[in-house]
Amino acid sequence: MEKGDWKEEYSKRITRPEKLAGKITLSPEERAFFNNPENSQALPFAVTEYYLKLCAGESGLPLRKQAIPTEREFQFLPYETGDPLEDNRFSPVPRLIHRYPNRALLLVSNLCALYCRHCFRRHFAQGKGSRLSNKEITQAAQYLRDHGEIKELLLSGGDPLSLGDRDLGEVLKQILLHRRDLTFRLCTRMPVVLPSRITPALIEELKVAPSLWVITHFNHPLELTPESSRALRLFLEAGIPVANQTVLLRGVNDDPDSLVSLFEGLLYRKVKPYYLLQGDLAAGTAHFRVPLDKSYALVRDIRKRLSGLAMPVFALDLPGGGGKIVLQEDFLPEREGEDYIFQSPEGKVFRYPAE
Ligand SMILES: *Cc1c(COP(=O)(O)O)cnc(C)c1O
Ligand code: SF4
Repeated sequence: MEKGDWKEEYSKRITRPEKLAGKITLSPEERAFFNNPENSQALPFAVTEYYLKLCAGESGLPLRKQAIPTEREFQFLPYETGDPLEDNRFSPVPRLIHRYPNRALLLVSNLCALYCRHCFRRHFAQGKGSRLSNKEITQAAQYLRDHGEIKELLLSGGDPLSLGDRDLGEVLKQILLHRRDLTFRLCTRMPVVLPSRITPALIEELKVAPSLWVITHFNHPLELTPESSRALRLFLEAGIPVANQTVLLRGVNDDPDSLVSLFEGLLYRKVKPYYLLQGDLAAGTAHFRVPLDKSYALVRDIRKRLSGLAMPVFALDLPGGGGKIVLQEDFLPEREGEDYIFQSPEGKVFRYPAE
C-alpha cells in the first residue's frame, strides 16, 4: 500500500468519540448522542480526517452538522419511519430496487466513509455486513437481463465506492455481460468526504462501462475544495459526466446565499446541479427538515439569481413509497390541516407534514 493511499485514509477514519479529542470539542448535545446507550441502534458514526478538518470553527458548522451526531437523532416523530421510501416493497431480488419502469437501483454496499447524519437510507447504511455477494450480483444481473425495459441502473448504497476498484469493476462486468446497453449512474459521496478515493486506477475500472454517469452529493459550498475539485476533474477528463444531488437541510444550506454559491460553484466545475431534494421523513431526521413553506420560498428566491443551467430541479420523494415528484415553487399544493396533499404520478394521494 502506498503512503497516502485512500485505503489507509479510509481505515484511519474516526469512528469513536475518544478519537475526536484534540480535534474538536463536543458540545453537550453531541456528547449526549455518544453517551446514550441506544446509539448502537442508530446510524453508525464515522468521519474522515479530511472532512473533519473542514468542520473546524464557526464557518465549518454547516459541515459539522452533517458529520457529528447529536441527541436529536433519538427524537422520532409519529409520521417518520426507518424506510420512508418503502424500498423493500419494490425489491424483486435482494439489493435491487425496481421502483420506476425504466430504471432500477442496486444497493452495492452498505458502508460509507462518513455517515451523513441526515441519511434517509439509514436503515440500510448500517455499517454492518458490507458489499453485495457474488450470488446477489448474479441474481441482479439475471433480473436486468430479463427486464430489458430497464435502461438505467443506479449504483448506490451506502457508498458503492467503499468497494475496492477491482470489486466494483467486477460488479460492472457481471452486469455488462448481459446488458451492454445499460446506462450506469454511480451515486457517491466520496468526492465530498474522501476525495483521495478518486484515482486514475478507479477511473480505469469505470471505463469498462460504455455509458456511466457519476452523481455526487455536495450540500454546501465549503465542500468545494481543491481536493474535491480535483476528484471531479478526474471523472470529467475521462469523459464521465457528473451531476449533483443536494438535500435541503436546516442549519446547513437553508439560506439562499449558500445554495446560490453551491450551484454556481458546481456549474463552474462542470457539474450539473440535478436535484434539490426536500428531506425525507426518515426517523431521527426531523431537526434537519426545512418546513415546506420555507423551502418553496428559498427556491423562489434562488431561481431569480441562478441561470437555467445552474438551477436544479426541486423535488420530493413522497413518503410511503409514492415516488419522486417535482415541486413547482409558484404552485403550492393543497393544504389540509397540518399536511400538504400531493398526488403521485400514479394518481394516489400522499401527505407531507407542513410542520
Ligand atoms: C430516485 C430514484 C431513482 C432515480 O430517479 P430519477 O428521477 O430518474 O433520478 C430510481 N430508483 C429509485 C428507487 C429512486 O429512489
Ligand atoms: S453517503 Fe449516502 S448512503 Fe452513506 S450515509 Fe451519506 S447519504 Fe447515507
